[in-house]
Amino acid sequence: MAKFEGYKDIYVFVEQKNGVIAEVGYELISEARKLVASIPEMGFKVVGVLLGHQIADKANEVIAHGADKVIVVDDVLLKDYSTQFYADALTQVIENYKPDSFLTGATVLGRDLAPRVAARINAGLTADATKIAIDLDKAKEGEALLLVTRPTFGGNLFGTIVCPDTRPQMATIRPKVFDMAPVDETRTGEVETFSPNWKTTEPEVTIDKVVEKIVEGVDITKANILVGAGRGAEGCLDVVKACAEELDGVMCATRAVVEDGYADKNIQVGQTGKTVRPALYIACGISGAVQHVAGMEKSDMIIAINRDPEAEIFKISNMGFVGDVNEVLPLLVEEIKKAKAA
Ligand SMILES: Cc1cc2nc3c(=O)[nH]c(=O)nc-3n(C[C@H](O)[C@H](O)[C@H](O)COP(=O)(O)OP(=O)(O)OC[C@H]3O[C@@H](n4cnc5c(N)ncnc54)[C@H](O)[C@@H]3O)c2cc1C
Repeated sequence: MAKFEGYKDIYVFVEQKNGVIAEVGYELISEARKLVASIPEMGFKVVGVLLGHQIADKANEVIAHGADKVIVVDDVLLKDYSTQFYADALTQVIENYKPDSFLTGATVLGRDLAPRVAARINAGLTADATKIAIDLDKAKEGEALLLVTRPTFGGNLFGTIVCPDTRPQMATIRPKVFDMAPVDETRTGEVETFSPNWKTTEPEVTIDKVVEKIVEGVDITKANILVGAGRGAEGCLDVVKACAEELDGVMCATRAVVEDGYADKNIQVGQTGKTVRPALYIACGISGAVQHVAGMEKSDMIIAINRDPEAEIFKISNMGFVGDVNEVLPLLVEEIKKAKAA
């Protein structure tokens, strides 16, 4: 008998709020597709799990993004996120369907939900991962062992974690670390509804009021062009902002700048900030510490300005200026203005 009889497929939690699906769910489905393609001998499928109320019509969208099958749990108790009811429902889905792996976005919701479910079913969970793969040697022996990589020791090292003893192998994965595959509206798949057997419908916690957080400015994770300010650019943040505006982009910052009080935490890029993937990232006076780079290295084009020719940031840059940012950046802004006027 196989070690984990009955466990199969890679499941992805498809997070939604008010019927709007978070992109990370589609990023994980796209990556899960690559994983199942790497082990055709296992015959695994990619299964999306969609929880909410009046969200059944979203299942086809999930299939168009790459799922072979979608399990829909549509219940009024799941209208808004509740740790209790979401954890109850998801635990039952996992116990019923027996996924081999279960991936969740490392969002605020995912970080709350996944560990609670993992504890209930006594499964191993790797949190806040940035890379996933399957051990191809083990796959030849009939086991789809997931290799989950995450930063460790303050972000100075990356550790790969395996959960060989329990199923499903659970992981929360940061948004924006994987590409989202193009949508294919012609894809077809199976949609199955699942009705949880609620132990109680009485909420343990009642929410009196939900206050939407007001995010100042543009969400940096959605920006196509980012101009990043590091400690070396603290004396010319107005020029950094002007540069971003000229390019129809947005300013972001390193943790050093946030800690020095020059920028808000919600524009911090990096391991303890946000992960971004813009088309262009201009790094101004940024050293290129591993914790910052972890959040922006997947940008399509990186241009760095730093007065230290040995700065780490140049190692991941497509183009670099060695010089004082106070001198180089205003010149760059002038050139951008000229190019726009031409
Ligand atoms: C657990 C942990 C988590 C962390 N998470 C994050 C995170 O999410 N994001 C993050 O950014 N950091 C994070 N850090 C901090 C990180 O290690 C670095 O300290 C930080 O990224 C450094 O920011 P910086 O490059 O702006 O500053 P510095 O390291 O001080 O570098 C400034 C750079 O500017 C250059 N410079 C100085 N003056 C000029 C000038 N006039 N013109 C041109 N160049 C100039 C210097 O040569 C230098 O390279 C984390 C650290 C830890 C331990």
